[in-house]
Amino acid sequence: MLYEISYSTKINKTNNGVSTGLQWIKSKGEKLNSYSPVDGKLIASVTGADKKAYEFTIAKAQAAFAEWRQWPAPKRGEVVRQVGEELRKNKQALGQLVSYEMGKSLQEGLGEVQEMIDICDFAVGLSRQLHGLTMHSERPGHRMYEQYHPLGMVGIISAFNFPVAVWSWNAALAWVCGDVCVWKPSEKVPLCSIACQNIIQSVFKKNNVPEGVSCIINGGREVGEWMSSDTRIPLISATGSTRMGKAVGKAVGERLGRSLLELGGNNAIIITKDADLDMALIGAAFGAVGTAGQRCTSTRRLIIHESVYNKFKEKLANAYKQLKIGNPLNEKNHVGPLIDKDAVNMYLSAIEKCKAEGGKFLVEGGILKGKGYESGCYVKPCIAEAKNSFEIVQHETFAPILYLMKYKTLDEAIALQNGVPQGLSSAIMTNNLKEAEAFLSQNGSDCGIANVNIGTSGAEIGGAFGGEKETGGGRESGSDALESIYA
Ligand code: NAD
Repeated sequence: MLYEISYSTKINKTNNGVSTGLQWIKSKGEKLNSYSPVDGKLIASVTGADKKAYEFTIAKAQAAFAEWRQWPAPKRGEVVRQVGEELRKNKQALGQLVSYEMGKSLQEGLGEVQEMIDICDFAVGLSRQLHGLTMHSERPGHRMYEQYHPLGMVGIISAFNFPVAVWSWNAALAWVCGDVCVWKPSEKVPLCSIACQNIIQSVFKKNNVPEGVSCIINGGREVGEWMSSDTRIPLISATGSTRMGKAVGKAVGERLGRSLLELGGNNAIIITKDADLDMALIGAAFGAVGTAGQRCTSTRRLIIHESVYNKFKEKLANAYKQLKIGNPLNEKNHVGPLIDKDAVNMYLSAIEKCKAEGGKFLVEGGILKGKGYESGCYVKPCIAEAKNSFEIVQHETFAPILYLMKYKTLDEAIALQNGVPQGLSSAIMTNNLKEAEAFLSQNGSDCGIANVNIGTSGAEIGGAFGGEKETGGGRESGSDALESIYA
């Protein structure tokens, strides 16, 4: 069977959603039903944490830290290496589950698992490079040195659209630093988290890793709130909406803890008069409709030079006519479903708001009905000519709605690109070096990620990932994230 998975995650059954890494804990918390947006079927139920299961798990994690921090870092790295190997063996099955439970294309589901493998490889190398500095002291006969020590417990709160990768970005680095992890997955995709835990459990057992180094506490928002205000957790790494980030940042800040916030984006591509329009078309279409517009880095706005505006608009509308919308596990389809009916309603309401503010739809939206669309979560990617000042354009709508706007000068284009509260990803399409450099300069894009001649979506584990302003300021994954965050 296509969706069967080999590592004891119980499809069509009730699963315990709380684990200390070596055992699943019974609890009487909220029951999370996981419906696949692909076909609308209830694929499993997961029992979330009650306060007792939460306390039990946090105590296990605390005890584990006392032991785990004493393991030599390269030995911890060896455990992470084996986690990567186990993920390689299970890539196909886990990628399919990600696609089926979340609704992204199979290719992207597999890509997400590959990111997990990549971050494990990256972390293994770093486990032998936890370098510090030595310096001369002003006091005679002294020397000084700085070295990194583990922080303790890292609380990871993740969003539905990256059900597995974001956890591993944090966990692999935290583990080699000697930290222990407690993961609160999104309540919309609990089965993926259980699959991850089942995959890595054998590695932890085989290596006698203390119980509590890798914990999972499934549950709704309140579990995230318990974690945010828990003084035993020095770092909360939270990925999700800006609304969530503001609540987490406040709760963690009140207890003077550290938070790493990876929040919403409102990403634009500037298409200049010197752009390669075919290249721009691929970047814009993939960025706007990929994962049905449910990436934090999805392209939401196109800022197009007036001299190529009409030509590009036509090309884009034609490209949208070719889009195939349907089951994301079928690789012939380009666009899968939204995560649930609430997301569909938000998409419909954004279209209405855009129209009310004067937006003109070049490609109309709407819900798809009929065979293959029974889940009610499939929508048409749409394009509107709009103004940056529209209230709806200033917001992130997590759906495939693309806003087009015109500009005359590059300064004006950069001001439009920066003229939203969010600051995650951005791009410029141009063959003009001066324009590219201006966009990348300190007077250019104010986003955490600035791309030239490639779209806004996508991330590589080698570089630090994150954004400015309401995106939260966090940096995750590669580059110097390791030293500045987990140790
Ligand atoms: P969400 O904010 O609804 O939920 C995210 C997580 O936060 C869930 O696990 C949820 O249970 C938890 N949560 C919600 N309220 C909380 C609170 N008050 N305290 C503690 N925890 C709380 O987001 P979502 O709908 O799952 O995901 C979509 C959002 O995530 C989009 O805004 C998207 O841009 C953002 N996102 C950002 C990045 C990034 O790296 N910047 C990556 C993926 C997703």
